Amino acid sequence: MYIIFLGAPGAGKGTQAAIVAQELNLVHIASGDLFRQAVEQGTELGIEAKSYMEKGILVPDEITIRMVLERISAPDCEPGVILDGFPRNLEQAKALDQAKAIDRVVCIKVSEEELLNRLSGRWICRNCQTPYHIPNSPPQVWGKCDNCDGELYQRSDDTVETVKKRLEFYFAEAAPLIDYYAKAGKLLEIDGEGSVSEVARRIIIALGEGEFVAG
Ligand code: AMP
Repeated sequence: MYIIFLGAPGAGKGTQAAIVAQELNLVHIASGDLFRQAVEQGTELGIEAKSYMEKGILVPDEITIRMVLERISAPDCEPGVILDGFPRNLEQAKALDQAKAIDRVVCIKVSEEELLNRLSGRWICRNCQTPYHIPNSPPQVWGKCDNCDGELYQRSDDTVETVKKRLEFYFAEAAPLIDYYAKAGKLLEIDGEGSVSEVARRIIIALGEGEFVAG
């Protein structure tokens, strides 16, 4: 069983992929994590991938496809896999189709307004790194960390302007993929607003519908 998760930054894709994988006994594979591990371990793959990752651009398809296909062919992936962060373009999607039969593609949908709210509301303690969210989980005293009284700041990629750019980039990247899987009759669109457990439930129910039986 092979399932792909798609979703904009802030949609909760990684969180949901991890929860659903655990619920359905599947292996959660995030391509970004595979690259970060390779960089940490200093492998040949990591050395190749590092310069692209540092610039925030995609690692070339040839390297990425080889890495992911190798990982999902490992024996521990036999029960099935949830792919998170791969494929990112049509070349990758087609290479994946040639190697494995994809069962379903879960696309987690959250309105742009809510994505902006989720992403641009994040503040972090400069001292102990505790994250806060304005207005969802604010500190007791504005600008100060509840744990250590440290100063709160916003990461440069969490400001409204940068977040808007990240979202634009995602929608341009995702549109052809969404179209591709919709035409193949594999796309499941899930409302990603609400609590984490509500959204997880929606996904699990949707995966259990039709001829596809999860688990
Ligand atoms: P992520 O954690 O998904 O944001 O990925 C972190 C970085 O890993 C990206 O900025 C890319 O450089 C690289 N990466 C992850 N997945 C892919 C992919 N499917 N294709 C190409 N590069 C990727």
